[in-house]
Amino acid sequence: MNIFSFTAHFDSEEACRLLFKSERDKIGVECQRCGQNEHYWTKAVWSYECKSCRGRTSLRCETIMQSSKLSFLVWYKAMFLLTITKKGFSSKEIQKQLELHIMEKYNRETTKGTLKWVHITISNVKRNLLGNYHRIKGKYLQLYLNEFVYKLNRRYFGDRLIIANITGL
Ligand SMILES: [Zn+2]
Repeated sequence: MNIFSFTAHFDSEEACRLLFKSERDKIGVECQRCGQNEHYWTKAVWSYECKSCRGRTSLRCETIMQSSKLSFLVWYKAMFLLTITKKGFSSKEIQKQLELHIMEKYNRETTKGTLKWVHITISNVKRNLLGNYHRIKGKYLQLYLNEFVYKLNRRYFGDRLIIANITGL
């Protein structure tokens, strides 16, 4: 499936839900309350209703989407991106492509840990500048910092750093 056939098949939230329901119907739905397998379909709330106890089971129940508030369409797009290439997409790239804004929770301990590395990096910049240059000119400060960041970001390159320096990558 390519991007054109994907968008032709999954052009709306309802199309995604209906396809998902047809696949789920093949597997069958078990009532969360009584374990019964016979259900009515209630499209108004996109849920199965148990014929025995009237308990409701949502379309998302017991799937990867159970606790998600994202639409089925977004989930389908994410799955499409995950499977379209051999290498796949990173989670950050999927967030960017789907314009998802996932909040990361920070607490006092993770902030302390992050700030510790900020202080270490600033100390290393100072030591690097004092060790390599006799005189630091303010107007070139950004260039000194750019050089430091370039090396810092490539510190694990090993021999590849030479190639990266030559090619400018
Ligand atoms: Zn039931």
